[in-house]
Amino acid sequence: MTTIHTHIPGFPRIGAQRELKFALERHWRGELSADGLEAVGRALRARHWALQREAGLDWVSVGDFAFYDQVANHIQLLGCEPARFGFDAAQAPLQRYFAMARGNGAAPACDAGCQHAGQPHEAGHALEMTKWFDTNYHYLVPEFTPETRFALAGERLLGEVAEAQALGHPVKAVLLGPLTFLWLGKARGAAGFERLSLLEQLLPVYGALLDRLKQQGVEWVQIDEPILGLDLPPAWRGAFESSYWQLNQVGVKLLLATYFAPLEENLSLACRLPVAGLHVDGVRAAHELTSVCDWLPVHKVLSVGIVDGRNIWRTDLDAALAALAPLLAKRGGALWLAPSCSLLHVPFSLEAEDGLAPDIRSWLAFATEKLGELALLKGALAGRGDAAALAAARAALASRRASARVHRADVAAGVAALDPQADRRRAPFAQRQAAQRARLRLPAFPTTTIGSFPQTAAIRAARAGFKRGELSADDYAARMRAEIADAVARQEALGLDVLVHGEAERNDMVEYFGERLDGFAFTGHGWVQSYGSRCVKPPLIYGDVARPRPMTVDWTVHAQSLTAKPMKGMLTGPVTILQWSFVRDDQPRAATTLQIALAIRAEVADLERAGIAVIQIDEPAIREGLPLRRSQWDAYLDWATRAFRVAASPVADATQIHTHMCYAEFNDILPQIAAMDADVITIETSRSDMELLRGFGQFAYPNEIGPGVYDIHSPRVPSTAEMVRLLRKASAVIPPAHLWVNPDCGLKTRAWAETEAALANMVDAARQMRAG
Ligand code: GLN
Ligand code: ZN
Repeated sequence: MTTIHTHIPGFPRIGAQRELKFALERHWRGELSADGLEAVGRALRARHWALQREAGLDWVSVGDFAFYDQVANHIQLLGCEPARFGFDAAQAPLQRYFAMARGNGAAPACDAGCQHAGQPHEAGHALEMTKWFDTNYHYLVPEFTPETRFALAGERLLGEVAEAQALGHPVKAVLLGPLTFLWLGKARGAAGFERLSLLEQLLPVYGALLDRLKQQGVEWVQIDEPILGLDLPPAWRGAFESSYWQLNQVGVKLLLATYFAPLEENLSLACRLPVAGLHVDGVRAAHELTSVCDWLPVHKVLSVGIVDGRNIWRTDLDAALAALAPLLAKRGGALWLAPSCSLLHVPFSLEAEDGLAPDIRSWLAFATEKLGELALLKGALAGRGDAAALAAARAALASRRASARVHRADVAAGVAALDPQADRRRAPFAQRQAAQRARLRLPAFPTTTIGSFPQTAAIRAARAGFKRGELSADDYAARMRAEIADAVARQEALGLDVLVHGEAERNDMVEYFGERLDGFAFTGHGWVQSYGSRCVKPPLIYGDVARPRPMTVDWTVHAQSLTAKPMKGMLTGPVTILQWSFVRDDQPRAATTLQIALAIRAEVADLERAGIAVIQIDEPAIREGLPLRRSQWDAYLDWATRAFRVAASPVADATQIHTHMCYAEFNDILPQIAAMDADVITIETSRSDMELLRGFGQFAYPNEIGPGVYDIHSPRVPSTAEMVRLLRKASAVIPPAHLWVNPDCGLKTRAWAETEAALANMVDAARQMRAG
C-alpha cells in the first residue's frame, strides 16, 4: 500500500502574463483602486490554485501570495511594522504595506542590478531590501528594536485561507517560521540588543495564528525554517526545540520546511523537532536523503523536494524514481513529493515559449510543468505510471544528453588546452603599474565612470524599433554610434580622464553578452520576480559556451577613434554572467564559468589588439555567488576568482584591467578580491561614508582602488565639497597614489542633466585633491 501525496512549498505569484506587476504599477500610478488591485490578486490566486488542483496536488498552498514580498506580509501579519514609519491606525493596511516597501517619500530605486543594502533609515525610508538566501529574489528586511512588540494583526492570510476553502480546495497554509523571521530581520537601536531575545514574545503570536488556522479547518501548516541550512550560532540552534515544542501544542499539523542547502549538523535536530512532518531539499541535499529517512521517526511525514525549484530543467524522472523507491520502502509506503523549494524562483510556464528551438524547449520545465512532473512521479510510484508521458520525458532527456549544441568538442579542447599559468598576469602588480603609468600618463586621482550613461527614451525607442523590425540593423547601429559620439563629447567637455563608450547599445549587462555567445537561449516570457513589481528574465545557459565573433570591439574602437583620452573597454565578468542566468545542471557551475571566462578572455585579447589600453570586467555578482555554508566558501572563491583571472590575464603589462563591484560586505573576502589581481577595482562606497574602505586599508589592499564618491541611486547632485570630504577620508586609509575618483556605479538609470552636474563636481573634487 502506498500513499503518495504531492504539494508545493510555493508558487510564482506574478502571473503568467505578469498581471500582478502591471496591476501594481497601475495602482501606484493611481490608475487602479485598492479594490481593483485586490481583485487582481484574488483572480491570480484562484487561477494558481486551480492549476495546482488540476495537477492533482493534494493541497493548494495558501500564504505564498504577496503584493510585494512574503516577508513584508509577515511584518504586517505579526504586527511589527517599524515605529519609524509613524503609521496611524486610520491608514489602510495596504497603504502602510506599500509605504514600508517603497518609502513614504521619494525612495530611490536602482535598476543597474545593484545591491540595495545599506540605505539610511530615516523616518519614511523604505525598508532595506536584501537577497533571499542565495537567490536573486529580494525581500524586505524586518527591523527589530528592544521596543518591538508583536500581535496577530493582519487578517490577510486568514482571508486567503477562507477564499481557497470557498473555492473547494483543501488548504495547506504556508508560513515563515519564527526563527527564520527573526533571523532575516535586522537589529536596530540599542547596542548589544539581540533579535533572538524577541522570540519569547513572538511565539505566543505564532501560537495564536496557528490556533486561528486550526479553527478555520486547516489541517496542515507548512512552516518554513530555511535557516536550518545555514551555519547557525548555538543560541539559535538551541532555540528550535523549545519553540517547536510550544507551537506543536496548538494541535495543528506542522510541516517544517527546509530548502536551499543540506542540513548537515542540523539534520538530527530537524528530524527530532516535535512537528508532524519535515520537508527537505532533495536536489541540493540529495546526499542527505538516506540519513533524513533514517533519523526521522516513521510516524512523521517526510516531504522530499525532488523536483528542482531553483532551475528550469526537466526532471530526470527515472533517476528521481530510483532515488525515491528506497525511501518509500523505508517509510512504509508513505511519502510526500514536492519541488525542492517554492517555485517562485522559476518562470511561470513554457506554454507561450514558441520562440525557443524545439529541442531546447523540450528539455525545460517551468513552474506549471513542474506541477505536471509531480503528478507523473506520484502516478509512477503508485504503480499507475503514465507510460507515454514517462517515455516522452525520457526521450527529451536523452536528446539533451546527446545534443551537439550542448557538448562541443572545440570548447572542450579550448578548456583542455588552457595553460595552467593562463590565470596569471605576466608581471607582478608593481611592474604593471609602472608600465601602465608610462603608457597612460594619467594625473593623480584619475577620474572615470563605471560604464553606462543615461539610457534615454531615444535610445530605448531605437532599440524597441529595431527589435520590432521597424529600424534596420544599419540604422540602429548608426543611432548607437551617434549616442556613443555624444557620450564621448560630453566626457571630453567634463574633463574626465578615462572615458567609456556609455553602453548605449546594451539592454542589460548580462543579456547583451548572452545574446552574442553560443550556449545561451532566451525565453520570450521567462520572467522571475526580483522584488515587488520588478521581474528579470534570466538567460538560459544550456550548452558549452563559445564566442563566435567579437562582441564589443567595434563599438569600443569607434569610441576610441573619437578621443585622444584612453577609452575603457567594458565587459561583464564570467561569474556575473553565470550568477544572473539559469545554469546547466549537467556540469558543475565552475566548469560553465570557466567556459564563459575563455570567451571573455578572447574578447579582452581582441580589445587589446585593437589598441584599447584599459579594459574593465564587471563582477558585481561575485559576492552573491557565495555558498550558504562557510565550509564551501573557499572552493567557490577559488574557482570564481580564477575564472576572473583567466578572463583578465591575456594582456600585456601596460594594459590596465579594471573590475567593478557594487555595494557588498567585502571585508570577509578581501584576500580573494585581492587575488583577482585587477589593476584597479571600483566599488560602491559612498552610502557607507567610505567606511567600507577601512577594511581595504587595514588589509593593505595592494592594487589601485576607485571608491565611489557619489550615490547614483538618486538624482541628487552632490557638491564638490562633499566629494572632497569623502576623498580625504579615503586618502586616510588608502595610499593616495592608489586612489581613483568615480561614481558608485553605472549611470544608466539617471538623466543627463544631473549626471553632467554631478560629474562636473566630481572632476572638480579630483582637481582639488591634486592641488593638495
Ligand atoms: N558597467 C555597468 C554599468 O555601468 C556596471 C553595472 C553594475 O555594476 N551593476 O552599468
Ligand atoms: Zn555597480
